Amino acid sequence: MTQSPAVSMTPFGTFFLPGPTEVRPEVLAAMTGPMLPHRGAAFEALFARVQAGLKPIFRTQRPVYVSSSSATGLMEAAIRCARPGAILCLVNGAFSERFANIAHSCGRDATIIGGDWHRPVPLEVVEAALEARPYSALTVVHSETSTGTLTDIQALTQLAHRYDCAVLVDSVTGLAGVPVETDAWELDFVLTGSQKALALPPGLAFGVASERFIATAGLAEGRGLYFDLVEFEQYIHKNQTPNTPALSLLYATAVQGERITKETIERRWERHTQMAEHTHSWVHELRQRVGEPFCVYAPDDARSHTVTAVSVPPSLSPDAIVKGVAKRGFVIGGGYGKLKGSTFRIGHMGDHTMEGLENVLEATAESIEELLASS
Ligand SMILES: *Cc1c(COP(=O)(O)O)cnc(C)c1O
Repeated sequence: MTQSPAVSMTPFGTFFLPGPTEVRPEVLAAMTGPMLPHRGAAFEALFARVQAGLKPIFRTQRPVYVSSSSATGLMEAAIRCARPGAILCLVNGAFSERFANIAHSCGRDATIIGGDWHRPVPLEVVEAALEARPYSALTVVHSETSTGTLTDIQALTQLAHRYDCAVLVDSVTGLAGVPVETDAWELDFVLTGSQKALALPPGLAFGVASERFIATAGLAEGRGLYFDLVEFEQYIHKNQTPNTPALSLLYATAVQGERITKETIERRWERHTQMAEHTHSWVHELRQRVGEPFCVYAPDDARSHTVTAVSVPPSLSPDAIVKGVAKRGFVIGGGYGKLKGSTFRIGHMGDHTMEGLENVLEATAESIEELLASS
């Protein structure tokens, strides 16, 4: 065995990036399953296990498309398969900006609204845009991983549907950590990636299209081939994918789906709520402990349960904090996009526990105290 000791000997509970997230050893081990032909009964049985695990996580009766790509692939699929017409892009962070860029680069007539990274795009702003002209779809990021902000996608979808506008949801750091009711909220298309709150290795993306969305997807021209959801829909009824899937990752997905079924999705959501609340009160305590104005970047009525961006006082460098945490054996994230120099981020999602979270938060506080003492 030529396994790196640094990997095999690190106990679970040290890696708190907001993606990729830490993967349980038994889930990693599942990837050593044998190769199978992807047109055949053994594969179809594996794929059925994957479906049985994923559907309750998406809270859907619809099939869950599995794309051998990162999440960005299914963001592009959402755009390419939206019925003809203009697309409204709600931007409140780096990933929602990416969604808008994808719409532009696929040649769609895309309008950006919002732009304030401090909050979700207000419903009044969305409504004014929908009043002004027709849109066939809008794009939204449920949990903005760059800011830690959570958008109420249920209220947004109710509003958009009054204007016959489909809702394309990037729930990459939402799904499996924050409630998503795909069927009950009538989401038109919702997608995630394997490496965030699902706590799988990177490399797969999962998405669900409503019957209505997939029925009009064929009208969109220039859908390309690899991300044509019409193809995904045709194959999924045979428990297959259009092309050769990342088989090893599917083994991991089947095992993780069974682990989440055992935990139950409701308890998983509850665990994430507790981790988020604990992180938010830790920021408050940190401010008192060190006497510096640290604060949670996202507004208190719209915070994600999976990731917290912490604003750092100008006298300190987020980079130095992250390095001090690494010295103590933990990984946290730096700031993202235009918040790179002013925030650090803690990913409290996936399979993490309160105990592990307390350890990383203490290491972070110590790193900050050390920097303040030496400045
Ligand atoms: C990580 C992330 C993405 C991009 O995912 P890739 O898997 O890198 O393509 C998109 N949106 C959000 C909100 C994310 O957190």
